Amino acid sequence: MMIPKTHPRYTSLMLREKISQAMKRGIVHETGLIAHGRGETFDYLIGERTLPVTKGAEKTAAACLIDSTHPVISINGNVAALAAKECCDLAKTVGAQLEVNLFHYDKERVLRVAKVLKENGADAIRGLHPDKKIPDLDHSRANCCSQGIYKADVVVVALEDGDRCQALKNMGKTIIAIDLNPLSRTAQTATITIVDNVVRALPRITEWTKQISPDETQKIIQDYDNEKYLREVLDYITHRLRNFEKAGMELF
Ligand code: ATP
Repeated sequence: MMIPKTHPRYTSLMLREKISQAMKRGIVHETGLIAHGRGETFDYLIGERTLPVTKGAEKTAAACLIDSTHPVISINGNVAALAAKECCDLAKTVGAQLEVNLFHYDKERVLRVAKVLKENGADAIRGLHPDKKIPDLDHSRANCCSQGIYKADVVVVALEDGDRCQALKNMGKTIIAIDLNPLSRTAQTATITIVDNVVRALPRITEWTKQISPDETQKIIQDYDNEKYLREVLDYITHRLRNFEKAGMELF
């Protein structure tokens, strides 16, 4: 479908189109469309832009990645459809691995997601031959690679489900979650939550990793408070909704 650049929701509609095309190509599961819709709702509420308060979360995520010895970016269908290149760029910048991990597991879809990553510059991709299980997780997302997510000290997840986020945390890992819904179990469970669209958040984290020096990382991590950040995001959304009557559509 041709979307004119002048359309007020151009960017949002382009992302929707990408997800829709990726579902037709067997990269996104049909339920991924619903997950995307939930994300759109929250993106709408934050004004479809990165909130100023999110800077601290991005910076801390970058600091954790710089400090990590074995970082992994977990990839599912929606993430591959929307931000394959951004994932590959971040992986290259911080020396992270990319591991495909699907909720609705299907070997063929894993291969298709891996192909998208390859086309966007990934060198090595994990997840094709999972040989370990994340403890205390009953669904197929428990499958992972011993040299990838299983061994990781820092895992970046997006469009994640809360169960796996908690199970990964229980393994002692630092979890960086990119999730537009500040109320989701993932957002509430992660070590660092970035309430932003994955397409905006990933390049910003990559940029921060280039700006922070290694001797700054510990202080950035120590000073960060994820609960406080999530409260600030909710306060922002509440304020915006309360003032809608006054400011009307200008807010949106
Ligand atoms: P949880 O188990 O964490 O409560 P959930 O069941 O609410 O998760 P899912 O439907 O599994 O959520 O996953 C979708 C999540 O990803 C939602 O929280 C949604 O807001 C978020 N999301 C959807 N699209 C994007 C996007 N493009 N960028 C960032 N987050 C997104």
